Amino acid sequence: MQQLYQARDRIEAQILHDFLDRHLIETTILGDYLSGAIGELPADIYPTLWVIYDGDLDRARELVARFLRGSEHRGELGSWTCESCGETVSEGFDLCWRCGQERPAPA
Ligand SMILES: [Zn+2]
Repeated sequence: MQQLYQARDRIEAQILHDFLDRHLIETTILGDYLSGAIGELPADIYPTLWVIYDGDLDRARELVARFLRGSEHRGELGSWTCESCGETVSEGFDLCWRCGQERPAPA
């Protein structure tokens, strides 16, 4: 098992987990289980995403890089707006990266 990525929060970790899952890469989120168990937690505990099979690591890194590039370009031409939470999602993604809602079908 190899560490892949340290997420900003558990929502981002979960979205990346689901994103990689759709690309048939198995990952697990560590550190996340602390959330909610205790009221106050140090701010420097972030969930980390781990690749289960080491052989998937290179491909997983490439996918994460692609995912992060996409999230930097919010609002660009071709992006779409999530009907569930209102987030603006880049064109290349079929699921909202905030809440996981599917892209609405073209009118
Ligand atoms: Zn959403």
